[in-house]
Amino acid sequence: MYGYLIDMDGVIYRGTELIEGADNFIKTLLEHDIPFLFLTNNSQRSRRDIVMKLRQMGINVGEKHIFTCAMATARFLAEQKAGGTAYVVGDSGLTTALHRNGYSIVDKKPDYVVVGETRTFSFEMLEAATNMILDGAKLIATNLDPNCPTQSGTRPGCGAIVALLEEATGTKAFSLGKPSPIMMRAARKELGLSSNETVMIGDTMSTDIMGGVQMGYRTILVLSGGTRCDELGDYAFQPDLVVGSVADINPREVSFNIEEYTLLSAS
Ligand SMILES: [Mg+2]
Repeated sequence: MYGYLIDMDGVIYRGTELIEGADNFIKTLLEHDIPFLFLTNNSQRSRRDIVMKLRQMGINVGEKHIFTCAMATARFLAEQKAGGTAYVVGDSGLTTALHRNGYSIVDKKPDYVVVGETRTFSFEMLEAATNMILDGAKLIATNLDPNCPTQSGTRPGCGAIVALLEEATGTKAFSLGKPSPIMMRAARKELGLSSNETVMIGDTMSTDIMGGVQMGYRTILVLSGGTRCDELGDYAFQPDLVVGSVADINPREVSFNIEEYTLLSAS
C-alpha cells in the first residue's frame, strides 16, 4: 500500500476552483486511512489558512495533512541554528512557521534573509535585505518557482524576487521548497513511510516530478494543471504514470508495473 504526497494548485484546484473529482479522491484516502500530505510551494498561507481554503471547496482535512515550503524552511533553519533570527520578505504563512520553530523576526543583523511569496513588499525591503546579505546574512529561498498562474494571468513567484537579491549581492540562495530533497524527505518522514511506499502526485515536472524522482519515490503527473502531454519529451526524467487528473487515480489499486521496474533495475 502506498501513501501520497499531493501538490495542490493544478491538482486539487485551479485558483479557487475545485478540479472535478478531487474531493472524491481525498474522501477515498480519508475513508480508507491511506496516509497523505498536501505539499505546497506556496509559503503565503499558514496550515490553518489552507485547511480553511480547502474546507470552503468541500475538502475536509486537518492541519496534519498540510506541509508547506514555509514549514520545511523553518524546520531546516531551526536544525541549522536553533533560536536564530530572520529578516523576512514574505507573508504570514512564513512568519508563523518561523515563530513556531523558535525564530525571531528582526530588521537588523539577522542570521538569515528568508524570502517567500508576498504581494506586500517594497524596494526599501529589498534594499535592506541586500545590505544584510552583503553584511553576512545567509540568503534562504522558500522555493524557486519563477512564477505562478492566477485567475487573471501570471504573477512573479518567489524565485523571481530571489533572483533579484542574488543578482544584487552576487550570492546564491539556498532553497528548501520542491524539488529540494529537504522538503521531499521531511514530508515522507512526516507520513512515516519508506521511500518505496511513497507516491508524489503533481502537475509540474520541474518541482513535483523531479523532486519525487530524485528521492526514488513513485511519481504521477496529472494533466489538470500546468503541463501538457506533448511537453514530456523536453525532460530527461519521466513520471511513472501520467493521468488526466486525480479523478483517474484509484489510490487503493494504483499499480506501477513492478515487474517491469524490477527488470529495468536489474539490467
Ligand atoms: Mg501545482
